Amino acid sequence: MAETTPNHTQTVRGWAAKDSSGKITPFVFKRRENGADDVTIKILYCGMCHTDLHYIKNDWGITMYPVVPGHEITGIITKVGSNVSNFKVGDRVGVGCLAASCLKCEFCKDSQENYCDQLQFTYNGIFWDGSITYGGYSQMLVADNRYVVHIPESLPLDKAAPLLCAGITVFSPMKQHNMLQPGKKLGVVGLGGLGHIAVKFGKAFGLHVTVISTSPSKETEAKTRLGADDFLVSTDPKRMQACARSLDFIIDTVSAKHSLGPMLELLKIRGVLALVGAPDQPLELPSFPLIFGKRTVSGSIIGGIKETQEMMDVCGKYNITSEIELVTPDRINEALDRLARNDVRYRFVIDISPKSNF
Ligand code: NAP
Ligand code: ZN
Repeated sequence: MAETTPNHTQTVRGWAAKDSSGKITPFVFKRRENGADDVTIKILYCGMCHTDLHYIKNDWGITMYPVVPGHEITGIITKVGSNVSNFKVGDRVGVGCLAASCLKCEFCKDSQENYCDQLQFTYNGIFWDGSITYGGYSQMLVADNRYVVHIPESLPLDKAAPLLCAGITVFSPMKQHNMLQPGKKLGVVGLGGLGHIAVKFGKAFGLHVTVISTSPSKETEAKTRLGADDFLVSTDPKRMQACARSLDFIIDTVSAKHSLGPMLELLKIRGVLALVGAPDQPLELPSFPLIFGKRTVSGSIIGGIKETQEMMDVCGKYNITSEIELVTPDRINEALDRLARNDVRYRFVIDISPKSNF
């Protein structure tokens, strides 16, 4: 690495998984110097996405250890490169999943960098200079300014951090399928980090929102704290049947293998299910509920930078933030265990500010 990346001179403290055991340990590494297009960010908060857990455990078989996870990053700019005009020192900013893309293809030109075939992620990616990218479970980040967004003044940086991945991941398909229409009926499958923000977008835009969950214990809170209108336990076939053909749209955020059949039955004729969860095993997709209902199953990955900024501004306007549990870095492993056990309301965020005992 040293010979291919000579300008990686900045020493950074972070946390990394070094094997698939599921544990994180302190890790000191190097980041590049701040280049002409770069900004340097003092990281204050980083959300813990289930994707981090997939990478830490090598669920998808693509992890390059040591991996420093984290792609829900918020902080303050401490340095800007000479080509940077839209950010200045002191700005409150966020970085999500994107670290680099080709900048030339039809998708990059259309602000859909997330569909560029040379896309590189904020961690476990390979940057333009050949170095492996390290994410936000660390004290400082150097990012190309084209992949950085402003955080509205009205949003606290800790509760805004999960918007950089969980927020944009549900917002993008909601927009694409024109879901955000008052009075429409939305189903949200899986009430975790992504799911609870989908509920909030739905309610902010005046939709009727039904949560479809495997956890009966989440019902009261889903209704009182998040404002969900209805709650279905997916393992209760009677209630599921009673709600057949009732929903216009579904967002499926589940992190584990499951059947899409019972979810599709909930959709009206021509309804759309947007899949954003990324289980390591193929999902079951029975043909009958698909063909008899003329229904659509669609996929989506995060969002482009322009849309991420738009989503942030929408969140600023409607005061949408994540429900979080703040953890100090010495408790990351505990938080990962709880995330794996589905015991989080609804996103862990690491407090990386100086007062926390990093
Ligand atoms: P999370 O906070 O762990 O939430 C996932 C939810 O899925 C859980 O809260 C749980 O909800 C449900 N669930 C978990 N295990 C289940 C099982 N065995 N059967 C049925 N339901 C189960 O995870 P997250 O951070 O929201 O991420 C969710 C998934 O989206 C992950 O696979 C992640 O990698 C993926 N993701 C995709 C994108 C993208 O761009 N497409 C971006 C970010 C994340 P209930 O208790 O309500 O059932
Ligand atoms: Zn994520």
